[in-house]
Amino acid sequence: MPEISTAEAILKAKCPRCHRGDIFIHNAYHPGFSKTNKLCPHCGLMFEREPGFFFGAMYISYMFTVAIMLGTAFVLYFGFNDPPLLVYLLSVPLITVLLVPLSFRFSRVLYLYAFGGVSYNRSYAEGRPNPK
Ligand SMILES: [Zn+2]
Repeated sequence: MPEISTAEAILKAKCPRCHRGDIFIHNAYHPGFSKTNKLCPHCGLMFEREPGFFFGAMYISYMFTVAIMLGTAFVLYFGFNDPPLLVYLLSVPLITVLLVPLSFRFSRVLYLYAFGGVSYNRSYAEGRPNPK
Protein backbone atom coordinates (compact mmCIF):
# COMPACT_ATOMS: atom_id res chain seq x y z
CA MET A 1 0.00 0.00 0.00
CA PRO A 2 1.56 3.33 -1.00
CA GLU A 3 2.23 6.04 1.55
CA ILE A 4 -0.34 8.81 1.81
CA SER A 5 0.38 12.42 2.74
CA THR A 6 -0.63 13.95 6.06
CA ALA A 7 -3.28 16.07 4.28
CA GLU A 8 -4.79 12.96 2.69
CA ALA A 9 -4.62 11.08 6.01
CA ILE A 10 -6.53 13.94 7.70
CA LEU A 11 -9.17 13.99 4.94
CA LYS A 12 -9.59 10.22 5.18
CA ALA A 13 -9.54 10.31 9.04
CA LYS A 14 -6.55 7.98 9.32
CA CYS A 15 -4.27 7.46 12.32
CA PRO A 16 -1.66 10.24 12.71
CA ARG A 17 1.15 7.75 13.45
CA CYS A 18 0.73 5.14 10.68
CA HIS A 19 -1.68 6.90 8.21
CA ARG A 20 -3.31 3.46 7.73
CA GLY A 21 -5.77 2.70 10.53
CA ASP A 22 -9.19 4.34 10.61
CA ILE A 23 -9.91 6.72 13.50
CA PHE A 24 -13.68 6.17 13.21
CA ILE A 25 -15.53 2.86 13.13
CA HIS A 26 -18.21 3.91 10.60
CA ASN A 27 -18.39 6.41 7.72
CA ALA A 28 -19.57 10.01 8.20
CA TYR A 29 -23.25 9.42 7.38
CA HIS A 30 -23.74 6.18 9.30
CA PRO A 31 -25.93 6.57 12.44
CA GLY A 32 -22.85 5.67 14.51
CA PHE A 33 -20.68 8.29 12.81
CA SER A 34 -19.28 9.50 16.15
CA LYS A 35 -17.95 6.12 17.32
CA THR A 36 -14.20 6.42 17.57
CA ASN A 37 -11.85 3.44 17.69
CA LYS A 38 -10.07 3.23 21.07
CA LEU A 39 -6.90 1.97 19.43
CA CYS A 40 -5.61 2.29 15.89
CA PRO A 41 -6.55 -0.99 14.14
CA HIS A 42 -3.21 -0.92 12.29
CA CYS A 43 -0.56 0.24 14.78
CA GLY A 44 -2.34 0.21 18.15
CA LEU A 45 -2.01 3.93 18.93
CA MET A 46 -4.47 5.00 21.65
CA PHE A 47 -6.50 7.76 19.98
CA GLU A 48 -7.91 9.28 23.17
CA ARG A 49 -4.50 10.46 24.38
CA GLU A 50 -5.71 11.09 27.95
CA PRO A 51 -9.13 10.98 29.66
CA GLY A 52 -11.32 13.71 28.16
CA PHE A 53 -8.79 14.46 25.42
CA PHE A 54 -11.43 15.12 22.77
CA PHE A 55 -13.21 17.84 24.81
CA GLY A 56 -10.78 20.29 23.23
CA ALA A 57 -12.12 19.34 19.80
CA MET A 58 -15.33 21.17 20.73
CA TYR A 59 -13.54 24.47 20.13
CA ILE A 60 -12.64 23.42 16.59
CA SER A 61 -16.18 22.14 16.07
CA TYR A 62 -17.51 25.52 17.23
CA MET A 63 -15.27 27.26 14.66
CA PHE A 64 -16.57 24.94 11.92
CA THR A 65 -20.19 25.60 12.92
CA VAL A 66 -19.74 29.38 12.85
CA ALA A 67 -17.97 29.13 9.48
CA ILE A 68 -20.74 26.93 8.04
CA MET A 69 -23.48 29.29 9.25
CA LEU A 70 -21.72 32.42 7.99
CA GLY A 71 -20.76 30.68 4.73
CA THR A 72 -24.36 29.62 4.11
CA ALA A 73 -25.62 33.15 4.83
CA PHE A 74 -23.02 34.65 2.47
CA VAL A 75 -23.94 32.20 -0.32
CA LEU A 76 -27.63 33.06 0.12
CA TYR A 77 -26.95 36.79 0.22
CA PHE A 78 -24.55 37.02 -2.71
CA GLY A 79 -25.46 33.92 -4.73
CA PHE A 80 -29.23 34.12 -4.41
CA ASN A 81 -29.61 37.90 -4.30
CA ASP A 82 -30.61 38.25 -0.62
CA PRO A 83 -33.75 36.07 -0.44
CA PRO A 84 -36.53 36.69 2.16
CA LEU A 85 -35.68 36.19 5.85
CA LEU A 86 -37.61 32.90 6.00
CA VAL A 87 -35.15 31.34 3.54
CA TYR A 88 -32.27 32.18 5.88
CA LEU A 89 -34.18 30.90 8.93
CA LEU A 90 -34.82 27.53 7.24
CA SER A 91 -31.66 26.91 5.24
CA VAL A 92 -28.92 28.02 7.68
CA PRO A 93 -29.95 25.57 10.46
CA LEU A 94 -30.73 22.82 7.93
CA ILE A 95 -27.31 22.99 6.28
CA THR A 96 -25.59 23.29 9.66
CA VAL A 97 -27.34 20.12 10.91
CA LEU A 98 -26.60 18.24 7.69
CA LEU A 99 -22.89 19.02 8.10
CA VAL A 100 -22.71 18.06 11.82
CA PRO A 101 -21.14 14.64 11.12
CA LEU A 102 -18.36 16.15 9.01
CA SER A 103 -17.79 18.96 11.51
CA PHE A 104 -17.68 16.52 14.43
CA ARG A 105 -15.24 14.17 12.74
CA PHE A 106 -12.88 16.72 11.26
CA SER A 107 -12.69 18.62 14.54
CA ARG A 108 -11.60 15.41 16.30
CA VAL A 109 -9.15 14.49 13.56
CA LEU A 110 -7.59 17.97 13.47
CA TYR A 111 -7.40 18.09 17.26
CA LEU A 112 -5.70 14.69 17.36
CA TYR A 113 -3.18 15.74 14.69
CA ALA A 114 -2.51 19.12 16.35
CA PHE A 115 -2.42 18.14 20.02
CA GLY A 116 -2.05 14.35 20.07
CA GLY A 117 1.74 14.54 20.36
CA VAL A 118 2.34 11.88 17.70
CA SER A 119 3.74 12.25 14.22
CA TYR A 120 3.94 10.01 11.19
CA ASN A 121 6.40 7.14 11.55
CA ARG A 122 6.94 4.99 8.48
CA SER A 123 7.98 1.93 10.49
CA TYR A 124 4.48 1.82 12.07
CA ALA A 125 2.90 2.07 8.62
CA GLU A 126 4.99 -0.88 7.48
CA GLY A 127 4.07 -2.87 10.58
CA ARG A 128 7.61 -2.95 11.97
CA PRO A 129 7.36 -0.56 14.96
CA ASN A 130 10.58 1.26 15.74
CA PRO A 131 10.01 4.20 18.09
CA LYS A 132 13.14 6.04 16.83
ZN1 LIG B 1 -2.01 3.78 13.46
